[in-house]
Amino acid sequence: MDIEVTPEEQEFRLEVRRYAQAHLPETVRRKVLYGEKLEKQEYVDWQKHLHRKGWIAPAWPAQYGGTGWSLSKQRVFLHELALQCAPETIPFGISMVGPVIYTFGSEAQKALYLPAILNSDTWWCQGFSEPNAGSDLASLRTRAVDCGDHYLLNGQKAWTTHGRFADMMFCLARTADTGKPQQGISFLLLDMKTPGVEVRPVRTIDEGASICEVFFNDVRVPKSGLVGKEGEGWTYAKFLLGHERAMIARVGRSRMQLARAQRLASHPLADGSRPIDNPLYRQRLCDIEARLRALELTELRALSAYRPGAGFDIADSSMLKIEGSEICQALTELLLDLAGRYGMVYTGRYTQSPIGDTTAHGLLGDHLFNRVATIYGGSSEIQKTVIAKSRFQK
Ligand SMILES: Cc1cc2nc3c(=O)[nH]c(=O)nc-3n(C[C@H](O)[C@H](O)[C@H](O)COP(=O)(O)OP(=O)(O)OC[C@H]3O[C@@H](n4cnc5c(N)ncnc54)[C@H](O)[C@@H]3O)c2cc1C
Repeated sequence: MDIEVTPEEQEFRLEVRRYAQAHLPETVRRKVLYGEKLEKQEYVDWQKHLHRKGWIAPAWPAQYGGTGWSLSKQRVFLHELALQCAPETIPFGISMVGPVIYTFGSEAQKALYLPAILNSDTWWCQGFSEPNAGSDLASLRTRAVDCGDHYLLNGQKAWTTHGRFADMMFCLARTADTGKPQQGISFLLLDMKTPGVEVRPVRTIDEGASICEVFFNDVRVPKSGLVGKEGEGWTYAKFLLGHERAMIARVGRSRMQLARAQRLASHPLADGSRPIDNPLYRQRLCDIEARLRALELTELRALSAYRPGAGFDIADSSMLKIEGSEICQALTELLLDLAGRYGMVYTGRYTQSPIGDTTAHGLLGDHLFNRVATIYGGSSEIQKTVIAKSRFQK
């Protein structure tokens, strides 16, 4: 498969580069380059820039505010933004619930939620996992009882990323107990300020606190928050998870990290030698580059097999998730090794000045956080089972 860009796409790449260089604040660019945490407002400001330019939702259909670009143009756009160290768009609205709403939602839901997702006025979180329902998501116990014009929601969600910043949650709740566990699950949209919603942040190994537990105590969710048909939530959740897993491939970010590793490896050490002259480092760099190129091809194949209404092929998105997360992890490991003792400095607060070599700033925190990519969006073991069932169990 040819992944070279056309002259028009090359011109577009330069336009994206110029745009990022003109509008991306230097503080944000440096934070992204060094893997530091951004403040919510920094994401919002950047996403609003992209929205004003009409570039915030490259994959959405034009009728809902997307760009209508070809797949290869979307790819050029996302990769160039990543190379310019632009923040990745927060996925919960644009990449996850947005496509569910414009595909399965009512006209009223589209009118109410899509504009605020596009202009980043509404921040979303994902309420799928529970303390005893992660890999085995269909065993979830949060219950929504039909009370006429609303549901009464009770239960607990776990691992809710951005729960404490979010205005809205899309969540799965059980509305019936008949049939297979996957049946009787409904997909609900709820306002996080509704009485009875309690959010408790959880401290993580990278000293962040973006993960939360969310408790529902007699929360009234208006029936207008039900997406699609009651009891069909599993179908919409699978569609959404396909988007989530494909996005975790993070090809653009890995391209940026690879360029950073190449720069670091070419930097002379105190004795004048350069890591890139060491065959072991060269081999690791080449290995990652080859895997990343293969991942780009897999991503293109998955995108060209994408069907509006049906979404990604389930095995394609699982393959992207496994390989993409492993490449991200191989890159932060390589960067840490290249940084040597400077890589041991952990600037957990993300507000301190760099200690030692500035090229190593933020590496350890980024490396630690990247470990979770094996788990979030569905663990690697589960993805392998998904691939095996889809490809071999005909
Ligand atoms: C940083 C982070 C952010 C997250 N953000 C969100 C979020 O915003 N919203 C949300 O809803 N969820 C979120 N999650 C939850 C995530 O989707 C779950 O952690 C994941 O699905 C695994 O579920 P679990 O933690 O219950 O682990 P378990 O399901 O208990 O799995 C534990 C281990 O057992 C293995 N295992 C389990 N079952 C099988 C099997 N059948 N075959 C082989 N191996 C198996 C798993 O691979 C894993 O290694 C997040 C998780 C993390 C770590």
